Amino acid sequence: MGASTSDTFQSSFDLIIGGEHRSSSSGSTIDLIEPATGEFLTSVSQADTEDMDAALSFATQEFERGTWRRTSATERGRVLLRVANLLRERSEAFAVAETRGAGHPIGNSRWEVNAAADVFEYFAGAANKHYGDVIPVQDAGLDVATREPVGVSALIVPWNFPLLIATWKVAPALACGNPIILKPASLTPVTALMLGDVLLEAGVPPHAVNVVPGPGRSVGQQLISDPRVNKISFTGETVTGVGILQSSAPNFARVSLELGGKSACIVFDDADLERAIAATPLSVFDNTGQDCCARSRFLVQRGVYDEFVAGFVEESRKLVVGDPLSEDTQLGPMVSSAQRQVSLDYLDIADTEGATRALSGEASGPGWYLSPSVLTDVRNDMRVSQEEIFGPVAAIIPFDTEDEAIEMANDSRYGLSGSVWTGNLGRSIRVTRAVRTGVISVNSARSVRTEAPFGGFKASGIGRALGMAAMDDYTEVKNIFFSEEV
Ligand code: NAD
Repeated sequence: MGASTSDTFQSSFDLIIGGEHRSSSSGSTIDLIEPATGEFLTSVSQADTEDMDAALSFATQEFERGTWRRTSATERGRVLLRVANLLRERSEAFAVAETRGAGHPIGNSRWEVNAAADVFEYFAGAANKHYGDVIPVQDAGLDVATREPVGVSALIVPWNFPLLIATWKVAPALACGNPIILKPASLTPVTALMLGDVLLEAGVPPHAVNVVPGPGRSVGQQLISDPRVNKISFTGETVTGVGILQSSAPNFARVSLELGGKSACIVFDDADLERAIAATPLSVFDNTGQDCCARSRFLVQRGVYDEFVAGFVEESRKLVVGDPLSEDTQLGPMVSSAQRQVSLDYLDIADTEGATRALSGEASGPGWYLSPSVLTDVRNDMRVSQEEIFGPVAAIIPFDTEDEAIEMANDSRYGLSGSVWTGNLGRSIRVTRAVRTGVISVNSARSVRTEAPFGGFKASGIGRALGMAAMDDYTEVKNIFFSEEV
């Protein structure tokens, strides 16, 4: 596998606390390893509890003082628009940082930076268009329900889309007037720190900007347990999300969780099979399967099962796995050796459970590459059908009737995303309404649209990112009544 080019990379990164760059008070750092090469990439200051405490103090003071929340919504929108413009101006630097830090193919990283700028543009426009109601109450007077910023916002992101998922939280939190403490994943903190610089340059007040990389178990846990935090928005594993709900409960922090998935892609025998076969491999293998929306369970109607499997395997085999800095690459390395091992372990589990590897993924190096695997002879009750693998592994299961497909799609603890491929309008309506999932597409492999709400049912989460629904998540409703009698 080709090694990455020797582009120079900033040799170290500091924390951003109260808008200022600082090394951690203990002097501790995280050495980042480049997924494509397995070699040292750069060093990042690692926050300790004293640093997180400082970030909490700055954010709390900022909220009490109200510099940002009292800035007019229109002006906040202008600042966010500057953020979008700066992201576009620096898109190549951000894209290379994401590619070298997280292993995303450079074409994907460019798309992600562009999408991150779209998110800031959307919430720049949303800032002064999110307002309350005048309510016709029985008492004589005027009743107004207003929206107020929720307060200090702890934004915790995973490693799979480090910049993009950060923007889903940062942009609406700031649009609503909240100070932020952004905690990136320890594997991939660089683009979050670069985003912090952009926020400051665009004019977000310094104390409202805190970007604090550090271990989830220590400083992450400290952040979500602190009573000064009013809002927690977390994206990551379901088990971590449960712990966050428990730890934050005594403080009544408002919590949004975007968690795991095991999404179904249902292919009916009346679908345009050629289109489905062309589009669906990347709906599970994009980002080397490290995608919460990955359609990792394919439910295919028996009449087209063999044809679909043959076409799907052929298309999956053609996907170009390689150096993420190469323009032709479609699938880069996995983020870490440990993450690749999880997928390899699941392939062994699939063998033990009696599945067949219609395409058997191969690990290669240097770096943590793993090509796609396609499993057949799979039942929906097997572990590979029920557990999130978070790697390039697809399971294909046959079904006979529409009801059976719906039942299997819903037979999962998760409910994040999914697709239905059919040429029958009535069926597309019936099935999308019946599948218990937060997002579902018909004849499309995509899940996320900046302007539309995104989030999960069941163990896939609570709350919605993106669209105007995200603005509700970062505000509190206050009802005010003005009596007519003076
Ligand atoms: P993770 O839960 O291990 O970590 C996510 C973040 O939480 C990291 O920043 C981590 O440091 C922090 N963290 C860990 N323990 C913590 C604690 N006790 N308190 C506070 N913070 C803590 O998840 P991951 O491995 O980084 O990400 C992969 C997971 O994320 C997958 O399950 C995937 O499905 C999910 N995901 C979901 C979505 C979605 O929108 N639903 C999007 C992307 C990823």
